Amino acid sequence: MSALTSVSGFPRIGRDRELKKVIEAYWKGKSSLDQVRATAKQLRAEHWKLQADSGVDLVASNDFSYYDQVLDTAIMLNAIPNRYRRLSFANTEDTLFAMARGYQGAEGDVTALPMKKWFTTNYHYLVPEIDLPAEIKLNSTKPFDEFKEAKAQGIVTKPVLIGPYTFLELARNPQAEELEIDGVLINAVADVYAQIVQEFAKLGAQWVQLDEPYLVLDKDEGDVELFKSLYSAILSARTDSSGGSRVKVLLNTYFGNIADIYETVNLLGFDGIGLDLIEGRNENLAAVEKYGVAKNTTIFAGVINGRNIWRNNYAQSLGLVDALKIKADNVAVSTASSLLHVPFSTEGENGLEPDILKHFSFAVEKVGELVDVATLADEDDNSRKHSSVLAENQALFDGSRVRPDRSVSARLAALAADDFVRHPARPQRRELQCEALGLPELPTTTIGSFPQTTEIRATRAKARKGEIDEKTYDVFIAAQIDQVISCQEQIGLDVLVHGEFERNDMVEYFGQHLNGYLFTENAWVQSYGTRCVKPPIVWGDVSRAEPITVRWSRYAQSRTGHVVKGMLTGPVTILNWSWPREDISNELQTQQLALAIRDEVLDLEAAGIRVIQIDEAALREKLPLRRSDWHKKYLDWAIPAFRLVHSAVRPTTQIHTHMCYSEFNDIIKDIDDMDADVISFEASRGDLVVLDAIHDARFETEVGPGVYDIHSPRIPSTKELVGRIHEILKKADASRVWINPDCGLKTRGDEETWPSLQHMVEAAQIVRSER
Ligand code: GLN
Ligand code: ZN
Repeated sequence: MSALTSVSGFPRIGRDRELKKVIEAYWKGKSSLDQVRATAKQLRAEHWKLQADSGVDLVASNDFSYYDQVLDTAIMLNAIPNRYRRLSFANTEDTLFAMARGYQGAEGDVTALPMKKWFTTNYHYLVPEIDLPAEIKLNSTKPFDEFKEAKAQGIVTKPVLIGPYTFLELARNPQAEELEIDGVLINAVADVYAQIVQEFAKLGAQWVQLDEPYLVLDKDEGDVELFKSLYSAILSARTDSSGGSRVKVLLNTYFGNIADIYETVNLLGFDGIGLDLIEGRNENLAAVEKYGVAKNTTIFAGVINGRNIWRNNYAQSLGLVDALKIKADNVAVSTASSLLHVPFSTEGENGLEPDILKHFSFAVEKVGELVDVATLADEDDNSRKHSSVLAENQALFDGSRVRPDRSVSARLAALAADDFVRHPARPQRRELQCEALGLPELPTTTIGSFPQTTEIRATRAKARKGEIDEKTYDVFIAAQIDQVISCQEQIGLDVLVHGEFERNDMVEYFGQHLNGYLFTENAWVQSYGTRCVKPPIVWGDVSRAEPITVRWSRYAQSRTGHVVKGMLTGPVTILNWSWPREDISNELQTQQLALAIRDEVLDLEAAGIRVIQIDEAALREKLPLRRSDWHKKYLDWAIPAFRLVHSAVRPTTQIHTHMCYSEFNDIIKDIDDMDADVISFEASRGDLVVLDAIHDARFETEVGPGVYDIHSPRIPSTKELVGRIHEILKKADASRVWINPDCGLKTRGDEETWPSLQHMVEAAQIVRSER
């Protein structure tokens, strides 16, 4: 018998994003809730069958969600704030959607729960809100219903739930602060999970998987105690009350290592412990080595990467499984995390040559790899030596996949320390730029994109499909630029932009002009709710194939006497929102990208662009989860890569950067070290504490803390914006403050964008005149 195989979770959006389509149609009133339910049921059935047919032993259930699994967990625990409960909908799905997206209609008017990034992924979860511990109780039959649904289909699944520890660590109180976790709350939550485990014992489940990714973060004493109290209660509930069947509990962890709590976990007596052997490899292995594995515990070796799309290296995975077998009597083979974060299947990617496609493995293919590895794991050396499966896999890694680009490595090798330093120092540059640009105090600008109307999107699509010729398309884009420039002039903005109408996406657009990139047709990954993204793939060494943005920036600048800001995506963000290579380091890939964008920066400057913004929207996203890794595994190369991009510009050229979110209090020095002249960020929803941090850190970069929230169609009044600017000026010196919206405007409509900007400019003028 081969080793047990287990899938932590499977994508739920569907091969062709069926779930997205039906839910969005429902929101628009174009399909019924029954249609939504039917599609959901069909997708679950198809996904279970597909995994079971491939030979997976432990197929996950309850990994399905209409919107987000953390939101489902909140609902399951009855953590439904009153404002949503009061909307007396006839269907629970409508309450769920109201919590996820807000609701405005006959039943009332509520905003959505806040959304946050799920660890270091580009998936976003809804932040649970807990008011009264007394309200916590089992409030949902979803996990049981799905288990029964699969059982009726002949598949005994392994129900998967977000564990209580992670849930409590992620939840907030109604003021959006960390929870006070007391005994009452712990007992209430543990009790619900105990009930669930017991119910599954009764229903005949073999395993229940509790996901505790929060365990891979740094913890203090209190965290460990919390974990222990929760799980002692839950583990005693494994046998159903009649004393009959017993269900096994798998504690599953991912996105890093649990070395600092492994000893405790091992002593608690879980039936299974899931370890991520991709992201937490060395530390997890060392912990197992040091503390061993309890007698009746199965180690679930997470060797199939759930976060990247390259084929698994079987020899490497077998090495890991073999190493664990020395310490553990039972080793199961598992995905390192849920497969939620990879696309559905490579099948149908007809735009890529078979010779290329054979290197990729999406969710469906990963399931096959899992079974392959488990089968090989039980074979002895001799049969492995003769295994054609293994040999074929090995051939993928023989080093001939891409030919290295010597000119790129030569350029990198020639870099000196000084290439990462811009001269002169920022204070001197500041004076020169003041003089050269002649901007008023509290200069106004935007973050880059302007509303992308249906017409703009449709025209871009036509051009892509060759339905209109290049000339027609160019005339169209030029007209859009003319219009947006003249509107910006009219309302009196100081630093203008060209509007980014030619860009579908801030990463794919750049990738299309870089050597070394590949694109898929249907490789969508859920980002939040029904929103999916389709990251491009870094295939080989990256270099700039041709100027990317110069033409339209130059054109825009030629249409106005105002300064037009050039608009680029930075190297760290391009990599973080692409599928990176696994054969070279992220550091090296970022450096290659940095050289490419550096070429673009210099060409823009040569074309007469005096202000250049280099967006690093995703810089914070990949900050390692453990504080001790922040610098050596990330910031120490990410920040210099950014500096390499702009270090060669003239002192008078002003470099801006933009970051979504303002959660960088703890890395404020590093952000300042990017050595940009100006940074804009999203602080319009926060309480401006970041400005205190900026003040305390003696931050040198000028700041544009976002005076209104572009994520909402609401038009802020001039008065409100004056108030907002006053707030900002209490904390920051007016000579270093910029006035701008908090992010790009491409998802907004013209109706709200122009009045909002007009009010913003008026507000800046009023505040200037008061001074
Ligand atoms: N320049 C980009 C835009 O305005 C920035 C987008 C972003 O920060 N995500 O759309
Ligand atoms: Zn942004």
